[in-house]
Amino acid sequence: MNAIACQVVSIEALTPVVSKVLLAPSMPVQFTAGQYLQLCITPTDKRPFSIASIPEQALLELHIGTPEGDSWSSVAMSHLQQQHALAAPVQVEVGLGQAQWHAQSDRPVILLAGGTGFSYVYSIAMAIEAAKQNKPVFLYWGVRNEQALYYQAELEQWAATNSKFRFIPVVQQAATSWSGRTGLVHEAVLHDFVSLEAYDIYMAGPFAMAGVAREAFAEQGGQREHMFADAFAYI
Ligand SMILES: Cc1cc2nc3c(=O)[nH]c(=O)nc-3n(C[C@H](O)[C@H](O)[C@H](O)COP(=O)(O)OP(=O)(O)OC[C@H]3O[C@@H](n4cnc5c(N)ncnc54)[C@H](O)[C@@H]3O)c2cc1C
Repeated sequence: MNAIACQVVSIEALTPVVSKVLLAPSMPVQFTAGQYLQLCITPTDKRPFSIASIPEQALLELHIGTPEGDSWSSVAMSHLQQQHALAAPVQVEVGLGQAQWHAQSDRPVILLAGGTGFSYVYSIAMAIEAAKQNKPVFLYWGVRNEQALYYQAELEQWAATNSKFRFIPVVQQAATSWSGRTGLVHEAVLHDFVSLEAYDIYMAGPFAMAGVAREAFAEQGGQREHMFADAFAYI
């Protein structure tokens, strides 16, 4: 796959550990919502990041988490910051993965995100909205603490104006002020659906979450051929 040069337009802190990165490609890029890109730090060091935007948008949006002690994403962020400061391009390979949105499916959709896995489900939710598909979409976003829900206001606004779109944030270690759902995000899905048989289920987040969710969902009727996650290739 050919790498494409992109200017780093901006790097903005969404939380103390998650940054939003906007890239401007030097030529049109082809991808489907739900795919990822690889940031080419060197010709042999390439790191995957879900694309949070949709093909209709001019800029590629990334959400990159750099928790303390995580050198994997910190190295990528340092590279992006360095190139941004120099006004020099980064190289990316776009349109990777096997867990992209299935636009032709007429099944209702469950989107399951753990932490920065939100980037992946956000793209798919926007693609369904842009295609004006009038079908139920349930977006579950699990985070360790409430502060990590960096797009909460936007999603609540979206749900308020679209009766087919439901947003369910799930906080693992909730403060006493949190009145929403708590616990592990996939357990919230298991609680809410008697059977998962009818649904297309897209998931992204920690690999452990994807593995546990896949097995638990299958036991509750989820069809393996209708569960999509790039993490499955790694576990
Ligand atoms: C193809 C690909 C694309 C990637 N894209 C990105 C990207 O765009 N941005 C990025 O930062 N990283 C990316 N990564 C790296 C990796 O997937 C993320 O670092 C990971 O999802 C980060 O999770 P988190 O620390 O934000 O979640 P955490 O804060 O660790 O967890 C969030 C929630 O997930 C659930 N959860 C966590 N662990 C478990 C468990 N063991 N069992 C059940 N539920 C659990 C809980 O509900 C928890 O609250 C990518 C990796 C690959 C392979």
